[in-house]
Amino acid sequence: MTEKKLRFDSICVKEGSDNRSTKPHQLPIYATSSFEFETMEEGIDIFTGKKSGHVYGRYGNPTIDTVAQKLADLEAFGTGLEAYGFLTSSGMSAISTVFLSLLKSGDTILTQSDLYGGTTELLLKVIGNSGIKTIFMDLTRHDEVEAMLSNNRTIKMLYFETPANPTMRCIDIKIMARIAKKYGAVTCVDNTFCTPVIQQPLSLGIDFVIHSTTKYLNGHGNSIAGVIVGHRAELKKQIWSTLKLLGTTCNPWDAWLINNGLKTLAIRMDRHSHNAMIVAQYLDKHPRVLKVNYNGLPGHEFHQIASAQMKSFGGMLSFEIDGSLNEVLQMLNKLRFCTLAPTLGDVDTLVLHPATSSHLNVDKAQREANGISDGLVRLSVGIENVDDIIDDLCQALL
Ligand SMILES: *Cc1c(COP(=O)(O)O)cnc(C)c1O
Repeated sequence: MTEKKLRFDSICVKEGSDNRSTKPHQLPIYATSSFEFETMEEGIDIFTGKKSGHVYGRYGNPTIDTVAQKLADLEAFGTGLEAYGFLTSSGMSAISTVFLSLLKSGDTILTQSDLYGGTTELLLKVIGNSGIKTIFMDLTRHDEVEAMLSNNRTIKMLYFETPANPTMRCIDIKIMARIAKKYGAVTCVDNTFCTPVIQQPLSLGIDFVIHSTTKYLNGHGNSIAGVIVGHRAELKKQIWSTLKLLGTTCNPWDAWLINNGLKTLAIRMDRHSHNAMIVAQYLDKHPRVLKVNYNGLPGHEFHQIASAQMKSFGGMLSFEIDGSLNEVLQMLNKLRFCTLAPTLGDVDTLVLHPATSSHLNVDKAQREANGISDGLVRLSVGIENVDDIIDDLCQALL
């Protein structure tokens, strides 16, 4: 039908001429909830998987799929593995989608006690209600982990984070992957703190990597999203099918923002690591600082394992101030350059006080046993001039 023959109000409704004759230099945002078929046969072929193509936005979209594949390529870089990726609506939805795709009632997840707080709550309050159990233990005790897996054959997944938030404790990825494989458990690592620039769990034998892309991958603090990356072809359909049924798909706008952030990921991570090392060394010598948790410091408990599995030490650190809760809060109130914000991985330096925010609902004794005292401060060191970060810390810590 030629447009000339259409009535005025139909022209309003229909798309105009197709002007896509020149390839865009930058990835476009495909703001469309569905895709057109040329013929009925084409629709059937795409629906049945005979032909590749898009159908409906919740199943995927060119903007979303391009960014997901870029992240899969980065996580699998240099491994020879053919990885796939799925963008999700948040880091939390990446995690819940992995659990609900790969586990069923009666199965058990083995994990660490110092997980990201949201993940612990998800396991206890939501996943637990579906009949999937969780066992929390210290995953740095390798013999105990192996004994647990050999004694409890309902453990179907080993899930962990390294370095852990906010203490920077590390877990040996290679050893965890080896033990899990021996007992047939699938492995998943939350790689949010490192990004594939610094750590590639897939290269160390892990099956799945998830991220809150909200943090370093986006890097500019302007979107909430997540990603699931895997390489085992036989599990891909399960993940995709659960994702589309839960409706935890990302949206093309946020995917586009992640892509913008990714363009500078490699240089940003270099600068984050560089700045964090200088800040850690400064804090380590400060008289008001009792302890610095940064794996890049040679004296740190996890320096060796971090050096073996991380290419640099990243932008995250925490430190313990010598003072009462009130004194610590008053010091943090003096900060002018660093930002008090409950996130991490942005280009600017961010400060969080775990005891009064992320760990507010954790029992004080349990919190302190996990190294989170009232004096502990978490820093997400930004990419600014490091002297401005240190000047600000210096005037606040007096
Ligand atoms: C922020 C974060 C999450 C949750 O991600 P959202 O994008 O906020 O849903 C999960 N794991 C880690 C390590 C995080 O820092």
